[in-house]
Amino acid sequence: MTQYDPHAHIRIVLVETSHSGNIGAAARAMKNMGLSNLYLVNPASFPDEASYARSSGASEILDRATVVDTLDEAIADCALVMGTSARGRKVPWPVIPPTDCAERAAEQAGNGEVALVFGRENSGLSNEELQRCHYHIHIPSNPDYSSLNLAMAVQVICYEVRMHHLKRLDAQGEETALRPVLQPGDEGWDIKAASVNDVEGFFGHLEDVLVDIDFHRRENPRQLMTRLRRLFQRAHLDQMEINILRGILTAVQKSAGGADRRPEAEQEQE
Ligand code: SAH
Repeated sequence: MTQYDPHAHIRIVLVETSHSGNIGAAARAMKNMGLSNLYLVNPASFPDEASYARSSGASEILDRATVVDTLDEAIADCALVMGTSARGRKVPWPVIPPTDCAERAAEQAGNGEVALVFGRENSGLSNEELQRCHYHIHIPSNPDYSSLNLAMAVQVICYEVRMHHLKRLDAQGEETALRPVLQPGDEGWDIKAASVNDVEGFFGHLEDVLVDIDFHRRENPRQLMTRLRRLFQRAHLDQMEINILRGILTAVQKSAGGADRRPEAEQEQE
């Protein structure tokens, strides 16, 4: 599929990461969510064993990572820069949640490069660095304990970027993991969907049985059949399921001493 992929124009920038394991874990989080451009600003140690160990199968993202000395170098060619922050700063800045960040990133990624910037484990991004950003992104964590592990913050943001992308594909009619699983009537389902006639036959049979066993009174129906209809309609039954259910109803009738109400043809198949 030669579809336009906004992920190619979105980069993750990690500023002065002190634990190289976090770089590896961030690379893994990125690959899981379909992102691959990693920029490292003056990392304490990279490349090294800890980063590769934590990256699991995402080592190619580390191999291809761009290492630079300053944040300015990492974002020089970007049209949109968003910096993440665990807490509010002195000078208010436009702060957006991760979902909005993903939306803006996807919009902009059609026209220019987008940087999502993450700070140091112990002190985050400096005010000067945050002022390089168009928006600040805050993951709405527990206000009493707001700071996530760096790689986990990367994971949350990358997840939102992916969700936004999948929702967009889904809206365009593409098949994505957001689509509900197959159901009767869809191509690929093993049994044909039950027809309205089949389902109505089942509901009639069900009501008869419920009367036979004194669970349901036609003179005082309340909402029983309505609710049972809604329940079974939600399941979108297929023909085999209808046959099984009707078989069960017939067995209940037999053991309750009632009549077999299945169509003659079905009874003869036994
Ligand atoms: N002690 C630092 C937090 C560092 S956490 C501080 O108070 O700023 C390391 C990085 O993870 C942060 O710089 C930010 O990029 C990201 N991060 C952690 N928690 C976050 C949150 N709640 N919202 C957005 N980014 C967060």
